Amino acid sequence: MKTIKILLEEKEMPTQWYNILPDLPKPLPPPIHPATGQPVGPQDLAPIFPMELIKQEVSSERWIEIPEEIQDVYKLWRPTPLYRAYRLEKALDTPAKIYYKYEGVSPAGSHKPNTAVAQAYYNKKEGVQRLTTETGAGQWGSALAFACKVFDLKCTVYMVKVSYQQKPYRRIMMESWGAEVFASPTTQTRAGQKILEQDPNSPGSLGIAISEAIEDAVSREDTKYSLGSVLNHVLLHQTIVGLEVKKQFEKIGEYPDILIGCVGGGSNFGGFSYPFVKDKLSGERKNTRIIAVEPTACPSLTKGIYTYDFGDTAGTTPLLKMYTLGSNFIPPPIHAGGLRYHGDAPTLCLLVDEKVIEARAYPQKAIFEAALQFARTEGIVPAPEPAHAIRCVIDEALQCKASGEAKVIAFNLCGHGHFDLAAYDAYLNGKLEDYSYPEEKIKESLAKLPKF
Ligand SMILES: *Cc1c(COP(=O)(O)O)cnc(C)c1O
Repeated sequence: MKTIKILLEEKEMPTQWYNILPDLPKPLPPPIHPATGQPVGPQDLAPIFPMELIKQEVSSERWIEIPEEIQDVYKLWRPTPLYRAYRLEKALDTPAKIYYKYEGVSPAGSHKPNTAVAQAYYNKKEGVQRLTTETGAGQWGSALAFACKVFDLKCTVYMVKVSYQQKPYRRIMMESWGAEVFASPTTQTRAGQKILEQDPNSPGSLGIAISEAIEDAVSREDTKYSLGSVLNHVLLHQTIVGLEVKKQFEKIGEYPDILIGCVGGGSNFGGFSYPFVKDKLSGERKNTRIIAVEPTACPSLTKGIYTYDFGDTAGTTPLLKMYTLGSNFIPPPIHAGGLRYHGDAPTLCLLVDEKVIEARAYPQKAIFEAALQFARTEGIVPAPEPAHAIRCVIDEALQCKASGEAKVIAFNLCGHGHFDLAAYDAYLNGKLEDYSYPEEKIKESLAKLPKF
């Protein structure tokens, strides 16, 4: 008899997060204050984040306890299932064994509540009353709106305009959880006004929306800012995903040869893969391949420069060392809105630079082709973001077919595509375009990298 779902009981849910910082092959280059050229200290971040998250950001503890209040909220949907994709394997006629972790069972439909709940909890505990944030596709905004409701905080979301227009249902979901949602760039912040003066039709970008949300947060005593990806503490919270996957593989006596995930800012990828990166770095599992997949329209890991850059467009954040396309780069409006970010998590960038992790990019039509093959075999309609991972999984599985190797391939299906059906409609009707690699725009943007 086949086992399709490898499940954990509630009492088997991990009770600690894994912090990769002490295990990195090199110390992580610190965030730099753009005015002083010095590393930022806790006091620089205090107006933006609660102290507990600032501590987690720089912690050298390998394991960090998950407070019981957070575990209780996680249990609304966690532990999440690990599936064996027998039907996809059969369709591909591959000897590879394909597994996927499914994070689409969360209330918001993606992995993002894993950190949203933790962030809302620590803010509430330190007396914060309101959180601001940005959202691309609307997934992060809906996760934070849900988490704020759980801990009785107000929530204001700056939503990238192109997504606000393409995805009204995400906005309605956020509003259903009680959040206030604006299409970014807005006329309410100086950062938004400046962009609109230059380009009244700006489609917005994550970088712009981050600038607006931070400006809002620092202008009020009762408010802090919350980021859905990129930072160390966000990836830390997401490791609950990979830690569960590890336990699930232990249950069936397997270990993945290849791990694959999509990358926007790197949080689902880091959360899924870092517990396995740990084994690779320790030498226990030297040969595991770990592949990060991104869109060719926003190819930070594959075409960016590894250097210090701002996390937002207006230059309000500290400088982070990362693969970047330049913080002025506004990516084409691809449907994988969650992958439209100019940079990536500093820990992930270091691991790519050290060649521990591989990076790959795919265009939009190829990923929708893979998404449909997945939906038509496994049933779940994936979000366009993890469809990038699925493309890579299928290519690797076909490689196994050619070589006759029965490799174990695992990927993170980090969200469902129920709010992305307009994109599927465009693909099914032959209206989806492939944006060419925006080389000129990236060159222009890289020419403006901050110098310090
Ligand atoms: C936000 C999001 C992403 C991209 O963000 P990461 O920080 O790279 O995880 C990918 N997939 C889904 C479903 C998302 O909601």
